[in-house]
Parts: sequence; C-alpha cells; structure tokens
Amino acid sequence: MNLHEYQGKSILESYGVGVQKGIIADNSNDAIKAAEKLSELTGTEWYIVKAQIHAGGRGKGGGVKLAKSFEEVKEISESIIGMQLITPQTPPKGKKVNKVLIAEDVYYPGNSEPKEFYVSILLNRSNGKNMIMYSTEGGMDIEKVAKKTPQLIFNEEIDSALGLLPFQARKVAFNLGLEGDAFKSMSKFISNLYKAYVGADASLFEINPVLKTSDDKIIAVDAKVSIDDNSLFRHPDFITLRDLDEENPIEVEASKAGLNYVDLYGNVGCMVNGAGLAMATMDLIKQSGGSPANFLDVGGTADAERVEIAFRLILKDPKVKAILVNIFGGIVRCDRVAQGIIDAYKNMGDAIRVPIIVRLQGTNAEQAKVLIQNSKLDVIAAVAFEEAAIKVQEVLA
Ligand code: GDP
Ligand code: MN
Repeated sequence: MNLHEYQGKSILESYGVGVQKGIIADNSNDAIKAAEKLSELTGTEWYIVKAQIHAGGRGKGGGVKLAKSFEEVKEISESIIGMQLITPQTPPKGKKVNKVLIAEDVYYPGNSEPKEFYVSILLNRSNGKNMIMYSTEGGMDIEKVAKKTPQLIFNEEIDSALGLLPFQARKVAFNLGLEGDAFKSMSKFISNLYKAYVGADASLFEINPVLKTSDDKIIAVDAKVSIDDNSLFRHPDFITLRDLDEENPIEVEASKAGLNYVDLYGNVGCMVNGAGLAMATMDLIKQSGGSPANFLDVGGTADAERVEIAFRLILKDPKVKAILVNIFGGIVRCDRVAQGIIDAYKNMGDAIRVPIIVRLQGTNAEQAKVLIQNSKLDVIAAVAFEEAAIKVQEVLA
C-alpha cells in the first residue's frame, strides 16, 4: 500500500523523525487557514504548496510551488487542486490532484547553506537484509546519479537480528560529510528512521530530499512510503490511509472479486489461470505483434460466473481490441471451462464488443474446442499456443 507524502511524514513524526511541518487542505480556503496555523506554529513566512499524488517528480511537473504570502497560497492552491498533474512517474495522462500539503519553507538562509541528501530504506531481496541506501546527491533523480556517478551512492546493510547499530547510523552521517551538530542530528535521524521503517512494517522509505537546514537541523522534506500489504492486519489504524482514488478502479473491483488484475498499456485483454501462464501469455501476445492490456489470473475455478466477472472487468478497459483466453485444464477440465465461457458469452450478449480467442489445453482440450466451434458464437478456438498467437494477429490486422 502506497501512502501520500503527508501520511508518510506523520508516521515518521510519530517515531521522532524530524520532518518539514505541513497541514493538509482540499480547498483554497482551508489552504489559507493551514498557512496561518503553520505561521503561528513555526514562525514561517513562506510556504510550499505540494500536490499530494502517488507519484514523485511533482516539482518538475509544476506540483510543488513556493508561496510568499497568504494570497499566493490561495492562488497556487486553486491552480493545483483539481489539476491533472503529469510527472515522469505518472501515467501519460497524469493524475488528478485532490489535496495539497501546505508546508513550512525550510530553505531559509542562515549560518550555512541548506544541503539536500538522499536516503532510502528497502529490503535487499538477494540476501533478505534491510538496507539503507544514501547519497550526498539529494533532491535530484537518484536513477541519474546511479548511472553517472554510482560512487556517490552508499549502502549500509542491517543484520535483522541485531537491528541498526549506533556505529552504522554514525557511519551514514560521516559518509554524508557532516560534522558537529549536523552529524549528531543525522545519526539520530537515521536511527529513528530505521525504527519507523521496522515499526510500520514498511517495504520502502524513500526520503528525497533529506535536508540539512541552514541551522543544522536534519529533516525529511519529502516522504515516499510503502507499507507491506501482508502486515496490514497488524496496523488496523493504517486502513484509513488507503486512497482508492489513487488506485485503478478496475483493479479495485477485481480485488473485491478475488481476482488478480493488473492494468497495462496494450490492446489485447488476457484471461488466464495461473500467474506463470499469464506471464507466458503476455509474451505470446507481444510476439504476435499485439500488446497486453492487462494481467489477469482467474485462479483455479474458471466457471461461468467467474469467467463472466473476468470478461466484464476486461471489457471496462476501452483500450481492449481483442481478448485472449488461455486456460490450462489440469484439475479443472477444459470442456467445463469451455461451457463456462459459452454460458458467460450468452449471458452477456452485446456487452461483448471485441473478438475472443480461446485457447484451452489439457484434460479434454479437443472436446472443448468442438464445444466452442459448435456453439456458433463469435469465439475463435485454438489448442496450440502458436495457433492462438496467429489468431490474435489475424483479428488485430
Ligand atoms: P518531488 O518533486 O515529488 O520529489 O517533491 P519534493 O517534496 O521532493 O519537492 C520538490 C522540490 O521542491 C525539492 O527538491 C525542493 O527543491 C523544493 N522544496 C521543497 N520544500 C521546499 C521549501 O521549503 N523551500 C523551498 N524553497 N523549496 C522547497
Ligand atoms: Mn522528492
């Protein structure tokens, strides 16, 4: 489960991690009130208006702006709330902004220059250890830093039995080139950040930038936080943090029906039983010149009811120009699946607006093919993998 910046920051704060303070607003009047309150709370005179969407690169897309008065807070909030924000990390059509975080300006002048760092915590899946990844090159695209100057990215691996040891937190602060108060603040920041990561059962923390302010405080200016879905039963209070507006509506519906559906960019809808076969099917579609519109695993029971739910989900996607059903009949017999498809098809009538290619393999595959051919429905039956590929190619041509 991905969180918004403001939600991630509030988890960090609850573990004593310093953050750029902010107040959430969903209209420009509340934005002004938020700014007034922030000014009382922190003494700030300038404000940062930050679009809350589940994607980074908001600054580049015009979703993070500096306001130097309440009037500007109002104007900027009005222009950002409701906008379709396009960043390098959003889908091409962007994401609609429903809320803005009004944050204190933390880049104020002082004894030293503010300095931006990069810090993330994630699981290194190759050895099962949590890892702190950090760099002096904060505030920019970490992918670019990794490509051009990989020597400026450091890793610190954490033994899960021992946890983060104090010397490791100090090492991070040292490698970031800090001294004096900033060094101490960074060590504390890192150790509390790690406590938050473990305590919240997170699967990713990405704080870019972590800022050393001109008066040597260390704070999180941004927060990308993902929580491990499998741990949510331990965090009933996190349930309200889920923002269904950020999730694909077809995916939300599919998960309610117990189907594994992932939206993709192509034109061929896929209905498959088993994740491995679904992956192979997507490759097959690519080879045949098409491109998959979705990943859909209908699971073990491909009966008429489930097949119909799956067809309806796939057809909600306007990109879909053909549907490839690829079922392996092992425990479930192919002729039963074929009957399920026929029943679902008859039930749906005109709702089926694209050609359907069905490939059934396994127990009673030949009978299944005959059943489909005899049904006189507009369904193209295939038994072999390549046969199905060629038929997909033909209907797309
Ligand atoms: P992202 O673009 O989605 O990663 O959003 P960030 O929260 O990282 O903000 C983008 C950029 O806005 C940061 O890298 C900063 O340069 C700038 N920014 C954020 N907070 C402040 C602030 O308090 N004052 C000023 N002047 N700039 C800020
Ligand atoms: Mn950022």
